[in-house]
Amino acid sequence: MTTESKNPETIALHAGWRSDPTTNSVAVPIHQTTSYQFDSTEHASNLFALSELGNIYSRIMNPTCDVLEQRIAALEGGAAALAVSSGQTATAYALQNITKAGDNIVSSTDLYGGTWNQLSNTFKDMGIEVRFVDPKDPNAFAEATDDKTRAYFAETLPNPKLEVFPIKEVSDIGRKFGIPLIIDNTAAPVLCKPFEHGAAVIVYSTTKYIGGHGTSIGGLIVDGGNFDWAGAGDRQPALNNPDPSYHGAVFTVAAAPLGPIAYILKARTTILRDLGGAMSPMNAFQFIQGLETLPLRIREHSRNAQSVSEFLEKHEKVSKVIYPGLQSGEARKRADACFKGGYSGLVGFELTGGTESGKKFIDSLELLYHVANIGDTRSLAIHPASTTHSQLSEEQQIASGVTPGYVRLSIGIEHIDDILADLSQALDKA
Ligand code: PLP
Repeated sequence: MTTESKNPETIALHAGWRSDPTTNSVAVPIHQTTSYQFDSTEHASNLFALSELGNIYSRIMNPTCDVLEQRIAALEGGAAALAVSSGQTATAYALQNITKAGDNIVSSTDLYGGTWNQLSNTFKDMGIEVRFVDPKDPNAFAEATDDKTRAYFAETLPNPKLEVFPIKEVSDIGRKFGIPLIIDNTAAPVLCKPFEHGAAVIVYSTTKYIGGHGTSIGGLIVDGGNFDWAGAGDRQPALNNPDPSYHGAVFTVAAAPLGPIAYILKARTTILRDLGGAMSPMNAFQFIQGLETLPLRIREHSRNAQSVSEFLEKHEKVSKVIYPGLQSGEARKRADACFKGGYSGLVGFELTGGTESGKKFIDSLELLYHVANIGDTRSLAIHPASTTHSQLSEEQQIASGVTPGYVRLSIGIEHIDDILADLSQALDKA
């Protein structure tokens, strides 16, 4: 059955799988195997030469991961996807796939703290410079570009500012140079479809809303199949020059008979093969389960978060509430241009009492969990300055919008009355 013209709720349940051809099992089996027997020596050599696609070894492909990959590609309207071991792996591999020492990337300043560290420290140590620019002005990406720039990077809905990234504007700039926008859509699956706005590649931490139940760490890279890698020529040498690790194959040429999948084919057959951050089949199964209810859950997260932000806005102990549904002006225009069906479950706020009041609030919560995570079915809270953003200098914290009294909530799908009651009693004690 094709799910091409279907809606997200249907795609999330049906894309990439109907039933098992030998057992008729409806649920996707967990293919807990390392390797796959070849039909013949000819079959084996075709698989290794990429002239035929098929299973070789579970570090680079697995049938359970394959269903997850097909399903997310269908949900995003992309060409193909690659499952990896974490969101951090997804970001690293997505960028390493097209950069090497001496190249540079232009990234938004508004990033998850772990990504900031990865790009500003580990990538720097690998000889890949990351130039950070303020996403308020999309032209800053053009200004930071030179002939060694290979990719633009950003998050759709970055914490803690929760201002939606100008996906279309920056994608349009990049496409003029032959530079893809790689976007982390972790906070906004289903609600935002980055390929519809010109992004070339999406990365996910599936650990968050896609898994949804706080059980497994994982990541996905989705290739939009909408970027002219061959046309980008010398701008994208990784995909247009012979690859010595693949008998001199040129990926834009080798992938052509298989579809617009040069980028993701290279990621699978070189970066994942060589660095090995594969997703386990068990975790892929958990993410398939999560995806099945994602369109329903993300609507409920959004509805509850809107109610929470309206409640906080009226509270005397709260000096500021950050939520796209409360924004106005340019920020709201960007949110409404990219989001359909809600603004996700993340809410930020600041207590008039500053750090001490923030700590008391967190310590008084009874229903909400105090954890370093987002996107769980359960409501979560954290004080970023002392946790997720603590590795950044105070200056860097302020630049990324983390003030001492700032509290981040990831609103779950409990009954809204129970969430509000817990927030209210904790605010009384703050
Ligand atoms: N991207 C975003 C937006 C995140 O919030 C996180 C984790 O919090 C990551 C990436 C990294 O994901 P993981 O923890 O799965 O490595």
